[in-house]
Amino acid sequence: MTDAVQIASRLTQVREAIAEAARRAGREPDSIRLIAVSKLQPVACAAAALAAGQLDLGENYAQELRDKAAALPGMGARWHMIGALQRNKVKYVVGVAEWVHTLDSLGLAEEINRRALAQGIRQRCLVQVNVGAETQKNGCAASELAGLIEQVAVLPGIDLQGLMCIPPAEEPEATRPFFRRLVELAVQERARSGLALAELSMGMSADFTVAIEEGSTMVRVGTAIFGARV
Ligand SMILES: *Cc1c(COP(=O)(O)O)cnc(C)c1O
Repeated sequence: MTDAVQIASRLTQVREAIAEAARRAGREPDSIRLIAVSKLQPVACAAAALAAGQLDLGENYAQELRDKAAALPGMGARWHMIGALQRNKVKYVVGVAEWVHTLDSLGLAEEINRRALAQGIRQRCLVQVNVGAETQKNGCAASELAGLIEQVAVLPGIDLQGLMCIPPAEEPEATRPFFRRLVELAVQERARSGLALAELSMGMSADFTVAIEEGSTMVRVGTAIFGARV
């Protein structure tokens, strides 16, 4: 099989697994957006996914996102920034990525806001929450989430759409409590802030079916589509 054929066939398998998990959970398969994570894969792989109708693509590194977006114009791609974002890299991402999943501090939010306003846009963002309270992980602490949302909600260049998490690496079933925790936080914050916060970005290759059962609306799947990263 050529790479392109293999990517198309894996995409079909992943979409079927998403639909099955949705049905098990009594959810509409269409309520879950698949993000194909093309980080560290050649541009040709992202192009193959686009050609197979997979328009949502995720990248972890700001310059790589910018470069791939520039290399694949006019194919309808919707880019998602899913990696840790430093303030000095915000300029590569705002207005190029349709979504930034990894907003986790007021300083970062202010820089995104500033760059978005300069372009006359509102940048769609999710707040990343460190649900496992891991010291080495990015994401805002659960205890700081309410305060951060309150401060971000008033920034006119940011369109805050929901929450994102990367649970500690565990067996798929062991990630379930962390996904539940993110859902719980979303329910709390919707009630408190009055924002819709409809999007929950959670689930990767190993555990996206568990995440869907728990309410994920965006799954970020790399290896299961593109194979091991080079
Ligand atoms: C790399 C990455 C993914 C995809 O991981 P796979 O295990 O390859 O599916 C998803 N989310 C984030 C934040 C990542 O860094």
